[in-house]
Amino acid sequence: MIIAIDDTDSREGMCTTYLCAALMDELKEYGNVIGSPILIRLNPTIPYKTRGNASTAFEIKTENPEKVMDHVISRVEELAELQSEMTNPGIVFIPDNDQERVKEELRNFFLKAVREVLEIEDAKNLIAELGLPSKGLKNGRGLIGALAACGAMLNPGWDYTYEYLAYRERNAWGTPREVDEESVRKADLATYPDTWDTVDCANDLVVCVPHAGDPVLFGIRGNSVDVVTKTSQMIESEPVERYMVYRTDQGTDLHLIPADRIADIRDMHSYTIEVTVATEPETIRGGHTIFSIQDEHGDEMDCAAYEPTKNFREVVRKFIPGDRVVFSGSVKNSTLNIEKMKIVSLEEQYESVNPTCTDCGKRMKSAGKGQGYRCKKCGTSADSAEIVKVGRDLETGTYEVPPCARRHLAMPLVRCQDKKKEKEGDGKIFPSR
Ligand SMILES: [Zn+2]
Repeated sequence: MIIAIDDTDSREGMCTTYLCAALMDELKEYGNVIGSPILIRLNPTIPYKTRGNASTAFEIKTENPEKVMDHVISRVEELAELQSEMTNPGIVFIPDNDQERVKEELRNFFLKAVREVLEIEDAKNLIAELGLPSKGLKNGRGLIGALAACGAMLNPGWDYTYEYLAYRERNAWGTPREVDEESVRKADLATYPDTWDTVDCANDLVVCVPHAGDPVLFGIRGNSVDVVTKTSQMIESEPVERYMVYRTDQGTDLHLIPADRIADIRDMHSYTIEVTVATEPETIRGGHTIFSIQDEHGDEMDCAAYEPTKNFREVVRKFIPGDRVVFSGSVKNSTLNIEKMKIVSLEEQYESVNPTCTDCGKRMKSAGKGQGYRCKKCGTSADSAEIVKVGRDLETGTYEVPPCARRHLAMPLVRCQDKKKEKEGDGKIFPSR
């Protein structure tokens, strides 16, 4: 039987993955947990998400499905942050005999939950139609994620990475985390680029340790169970109550929808689209860098590198109208929020300078407003300024936001690099670290 849960946490506490890990342990009494649990990140633009919009699922072989379901429901009722308005847990079960029958429909539901905007009714209707055992608490919004996680579990063909999550002892929840940063930096150095988003070197931040009141002590993301486990074991910290390694859609770009034209782009979805930079980037109050992009049909929209993307904005500020770029990112308020970008070609840039004296080779001086230019030494003159081509302080290739600003679902360029070994000639990449 597959068991999936979602939306048990609040901004202040709990974590759906912790509940999953605790249940996997407790349910040993009723059967054998098989394979890796999964951690699925859904559409990152959904405003209802509590912290990370994650849901989980695992599979158990049991002779006592009724007892297992009762246990799961009572533990979710007990541990979920039900007092928080935003927390609306959902639990879905897929009995062994139903798995083949519901597989295809749940595969589609999973992909929709990552890329589209689903309503609670969509999940409730499908659950009723398929006749699946489930439990929604409060408004049951978590049924969306739980059903999606079932779909991911039943259809293992998606790209995936791993995350090792270490959990705190209960008496430590809500207190400052004790993790030795030096050991984190060493662990990162030892296993990067097979692990990523442990430390943000450019911004001098440890990013694998959260700050909320939830049970997670740290999370290590990487390519294999072995490498995330090895890295985690190098980290010195307060006592770890339990840990779990999840197979996950984090770092896969599964949320990105290829778009051909701006007219097809809708809010609350994430896209990859090739466009031309249409206006000079401007940095507005709050440090957000914004400019306009245009497609072949002449449609335009805003594109932004917000303040939290830190040093990434320095690259974006070098754009000039005419640059050709493939942008990837989420759209909110009709603005594309850049996650990564591939600069395909750069427009030639010119500037006007004082003309050169034909006799002495030095720059002439302005002779006064509307008076042209003159070389005082030689007496030569010129009517207009000289237009010269200047070098662009920017290279074609693929750039990304730094680890501290990365979306869970966004594929880090170090991973693209690995995958690129298969298809050469895709240009230079500039991983942010
Ligand atoms: Zn001269």
